[in-house]
Amino acid sequence: MEGKTHAMIGVAVGLAVAYAHHAPVDKTIVLAAIGGLAGLLPDIDHPQSTIRRGAGVAGNVAFFWLRHRGLTHTLLALVLLGAASAYFMPGSLAMATSVGYVSHLIADMMTRAGLPILWPLSAKSIHLPPGLRTGGWLESVVFLLALGVAVVLGAGYLQ
Ligand SMILES: [Zn+2]
Repeated sequence: MEGKTHAMIGVAVGLAVAYAHHAPVDKTIVLAAIGGLAGLLPDIDHPQSTIRRGAGVAGNVAFFWLRHRGLTHTLLALVLLGAASAYFMPGSLAMATSVGYVSHLIADMMTRAGLPILWPLSAKSIHLPPGLRTGGWLESVVFLLALGVAVVLGAGYLQ
């Protein structure tokens, strides 16, 4: 899926983590930002992705060896990132990181290409319904749904 869809889903799940933790407004903004960034992070393996372009030359030097939809799109990467964030970050920030990351993996698995999610146990690409096309109209629906969830969760602070 496209960067803007991943970022919006990540923001929505970051807001959901904030809601679950009854976070104050300032922390909610941080959690939404972390969710959005973590939602973009797996695509650090693609030279044209939003997050890779954001990382500039340093990103190209550090991650040139990654194949797109390879290592960073596996349960192994999720477990490693989850463990590292749980170790280095306070609870809700670590949770927003892991949940943002997993939201990317689930969203990509809903595309026709799927992901080799069980690598290195299996190199087979696994996909979930509905098998949508990256950049297609169904992806726009996913984007709008995530935007709607984010607005509803964010609106709770206006009361
Ligand atoms: Zn991806």
